Amino acid sequence: MKVAIDGPAGAGKSTVARQIASRFGLTYVDTGAMYRALALACIRRGVGADDVERVASVVEEAVVDLDGGTDGPPRVLLNGEDVTEAIRTPEVTRLASPLSALPVVRRALVARQRAIAQGRDVVMEGRDIASVVLPDADVKVYLTASPSVRAARRCRDLEAAGYQTDPVTVEREIVERDRRDSTRQDSPLVQTPDAVEIVSDDLTVEQVVDAIARLIEQRLKDRA
Ligand code: C5P
Repeated sequence: MKVAIDGPAGAGKSTVARQIASRFGLTYVDTGAMYRALALACIRRGVGADDVERVASVVEEAVVDLDGGTDGPPRVLLNGEDVTEAIRTPEVTRLASPLSALPVVRRALVARQRAIAQGRDVVMEGRDIASVVLPDADVKVYLTASPSVRAARRCRDLEAAGYQTDPVTVEREIVERDRRDSTRQDSPLVQTPDAVEIVSDDLTVEQVVDAIARLIEQRLKDRA
């Protein structure tokens, strides 16, 4: 079973995907975390997204791993170092988007993501899972919400992590990130025609999880 969940920033993909993974015994793959880990590697070397050559060398050296883990969120490893928390800073968030528009970055991470999914049951979330990484996924979901709802959720997460936030700035950054992710040439954020759209504005996490669970159960029944 391969489940693809795509959508813009702050739509609730990670929370929902994690619950789907535990309900159906699937491996959870957060592809955004992989782009973030590379962004962190670039920041540590003082490399910006405009220096493609140096980005390419960071990509070559950085080994990004996801460790499923049984308790709590899966850990993200950069050359063996646990960077799960370090990749959630606003600075990393800001660099991950322009960095992920570079073909040299996408090529490497898409190959890695396909390798992770090979021969495994997964729920993978990101921007290009249904369109590029797993075009043959059994269930495809496009999870979205209005920018103001997504910004409010992001603010809550940031505040919980100890950051001061300003909803107007967060919403502006989210809209800018959506624009960049949707208009880039290589693997833009798109809703594929075969994906089921879920708009989460007025839905609880549980309702979204249940809606996706029904799609998976239907698919399992069709297969039986
Ligand atoms: O989902 P998250 O906000 O953690 O992703 C960080 C950034 O990585 C996004 O802004 C997006 O630009 C990029 N990304 C991507 N393709 C994916 C997942 C994330 O380009 N499949």
